[in-house]
Amino acid sequence: MLKVLILLLSIVPSLCLGADIKPVKYVFLFIGDGMSIPQRMAAEEYSNIVNGRGLAINAMKYKALTRTRSADSFITDSAASGTAIACGTKTKNGSIGVDVSGARLQSIAEVARDSGRKVGIITCVTLNHATPAAFYAHNKSRGNYYEIALDMLDSNFDFFGGGGIQMYDNSKSKRYKGSIFDLAAEKSYKLAWGAEGLAALKPGDGKAIAVGTGKGGVPLPYRIDNSSGPRIADYAKKAIELLDNDRGVFIMVEGGKIDWTCHANDAATLMHEVMDFDNAVKVGLEFAKNHPQDTLVVVTGDHETGGLTLGFGGTGYKSYIERLAFQKKSWESFRGKFAKLVKQKGKDVSFDDVKPLIEGTFGLKFLAKKGDPMGLSKSDVELLKEAFARNVESPSGRALPVACAKILDNKAGLGWTSGAHTALPVETSAEGVNAHAFSGGIDNTDIAKILKSAVR
Ligand SMILES: [Zn+2]
Repeated sequence: MLKVLILLLSIVPSLCLGADIKPVKYVFLFIGDGMSIPQRMAAEEYSNIVNGRGLAINAMKYKALTRTRSADSFITDSAASGTAIACGTKTKNGSIGVDVSGARLQSIAEVARDSGRKVGIITCVTLNHATPAAFYAHNKSRGNYYEIALDMLDSNFDFFGGGGIQMYDNSKSKRYKGSIFDLAAEKSYKLAWGAEGLAALKPGDGKAIAVGTGKGGVPLPYRIDNSSGPRIADYAKKAIELLDNDRGVFIMVEGGKIDWTCHANDAATLMHEVMDFDNAVKVGLEFAKNHPQDTLVVVTGDHETGGLTLGFGGTGYKSYIERLAFQKKSWESFRGKFAKLVKQKGKDVSFDDVKPLIEGTFGLKFLAKKGDPMGLSKSDVELLKEAFARNVESPSGRALPVACAKILDNKAGLGWTSGAHTALPVETSAEGVNAHAFSGGIDNTDIAKILKSAVR
C-alpha cells in the first residue's frame, strides 16, 4: 500500500505539469545568466538604496525553487542548463540542443515557430553564445560558434537582437561558407546596426538581426561602462513591436553579462547588470498588464556564478552594499586600461603607476584618513601587489581587477567563493496565465515542459 502511495505521489506532480497549462498568445522567458537568489537579493538591496525601490523580478507573484544540475555534473554550465530550460532534457556540460547521446532535441522556440508563432531571441552577450544557442542550435560543443551561427540562420526565427555573432567569419570551420552576416542577408534577414538601425526597424520588414555595437562579433558593453547604446530592454520593446501577430509570440531575453561579471567576482558591475535585466523584464510585465488574459512572463536563472554570499566574515551582522557605488567602471574596463599602461611602460611598470587606476575605478584608497572604510589595510595592499605582479606577467589577464573588486565587495559585506559556477538552486518567478505552474520546487527541465504546453 505504501509503495503504491509513493508511486502515485511521484506521478501526480509530473501529470500536473503539462495537463492544466492553457495555450497563451504571448510568452516571454527572461534568463539571468548566473543569476540565483544572492544576485537577485544583493541587487534588490542596492536598488532600494540608490533608487528607493526594489526590483520588479523580486515582486512577481509566483516563485519556484529550481534545481540546475546537468546530466554529468552537480554544477552545470550554461550549455547544459540552457538546453534543459529550452528543450526540457538534461544533457552533458558543453552540449547545446542535443541529448547525452548527441541526438537532436526540440526547443520551446522551435515548438513555437512550428505552431505558427513568431520568435525572438535577445541577449546582451553574443547571439551564438551558449544560452541563446540552446533555443535554436544543435551541437555537441558550445565552442563551435560558426556552426552554431549557421543553425541560427537555419532556425528561420523572426528576430535576433543584442550582441554580435562571435567568430562570424571563421574560415577555419569545416563548414565555412562565408561571413554569417552575408549568409544572413542571403537568407533575407534584414541587418540592423546600432541604435539607429534598431529604431528604423518596423513591422512588415520581415526577419531581422539587430546588432548593438557595429563591430559584428562582440557583446553589448557593461552598463556601468556605457549605458548610452541600446540595451536588452530596448530590444525587447522592439521585438514586441515587430513580432506581434494573431498566432502569438515567443520571446527569450538573456541577461548574459550577469554571469560574466560574477566570473570576475565584480559585484558593483553585477548590480548594474541585474538592474539592466530587470528593466527588460519590466517591458514584459508592462505588456502583461495590458494583455492580462494573453500573457505569461517567466524569469529564471540558468545557475549561480561565483558563489556570491550575502555576508562576510569581516563585517558581521552589518552590510554596506551602498559602498559598491564607489566603483565607477567594470573589471573589464580596468583590464583594458591596465593592459595599455603595461604596453606604454613595458617591464618598468611599477605598482605606484597603477594606484590611480585602482582608486579611480574601485574607489579604494591607499592613503585614507583613519576610520575611512575605503582605506586599504596593509594586508589588502600586499594582496594587490601580488595580483599586480601576476597581471604584469599576463596583461590581458584579470588578476588585479578581480583582487580589487573582491576587496571592495568584502567592504560591502559580500563574499565570493568561486570564479566558476556553483550548484546553488535558482529562483524561477512567473506572472500571468499559467504562472501558478511555477510554484514550490521544480527542475530546470520543467520550465521547457510547461512553456512548450503554453505555445503549442
Ligand atoms: Zn550560464
